Amino acid sequence: MIGPSPRCFAIVSEVGVPLVTLEGVSKSFGDHRVLTEIDLAVDAGEVVVVIGPSGSGKSTLCRCVNRLETIDEGRILFEDRPIPAEGRELAHMRSRVGMVFQSFNLFAHRTILDNVTLGPVKVLGQKRAAAEARARELLERVGIADKADSLPRQLSGGQQQRAAIARALAMDPVLMLFDEPTSALDPEMISEVLDVMRSLASSGMTMIVVTHEMGFARSAADRVAFMADGRILEIAPPATFFDAPQTDRARDFLARIL
Ligand code: ADP
Ligand code: MG
Repeated sequence: MIGPSPRCFAIVSEVGVPLVTLEGVSKSFGDHRVLTEIDLAVDAGEVVVVIGPSGSGKSTLCRCVNRLETIDEGRILFEDRPIPAEGRELAHMRSRVGMVFQSFNLFAHRTILDNVTLGPVKVLGQKRAAAEARARELLERVGIADKADSLPRQLSGGQQQRAAIARALAMDPVLMLFDEPTSALDPEMISEVLDVMRSLASSGMTMIVVTHEMGFARSAADRVAFMADGRILEIAPPATFFDAPQTDRARDFLARIL
């Protein structure tokens, strides 16, 4: 089944070194402040799971990390350098950050294999044969090798999300952002996606994962960050956080979700 197979993932990061650092990051939409003085350093190889109530700024945080949103204050460093503001440098940085959303966003009229090879061929300039070989390897890795020639609509939600993960991995990212990747899935398909993410985590991928799956947070996270009202109120290893949350907000949240 799905076991750790680091060979499939190009992990170039070094453990113990911050890959992404947010320093005093604040962000407003109009008058509405959605992120307030966020400090967060994610080490290479680390898995940070972000939890918190709806509207607390989790998605905005993810989007700021690859500059899908601009920030008002503070700074974000990627591999020790400020995120490029625009142009080819920004495009290059983004190509190294894989993002998986709640909605899978596969190209509906392309086969699964095409979905996974388009980025490497068009953006990275890989030869089609090489990109296809690698895509098949990744599809195998996420357990849908037999779906290479299918269209997205012929796959279940869980299979589509695994295809979306394979597509992101095909770009050889050094960081993967997951924003509620299982929230749109039927319950029976959640675990097959979480298993792939767990396998990726244990292969050494640096990951920021927004999820309501507390079992995943407990078993896969190095640290859990609890957000409320645009702030990180707590950040701690999962055992510490779940067994002894420090704030009323976190205790309330956990009481409702668990
Ligand atoms: P979460 O992912 O934790 O549910 P979000 O980051 O999506 O939270 O949203 C945080 C707050 O920012 C919410 O109040 C949301 O309505 C607001 N928000 C998010 N995106 C935008 C936007 N593009 N324009 C205006 N407000 C937004
Ligand atoms: Mg969100």
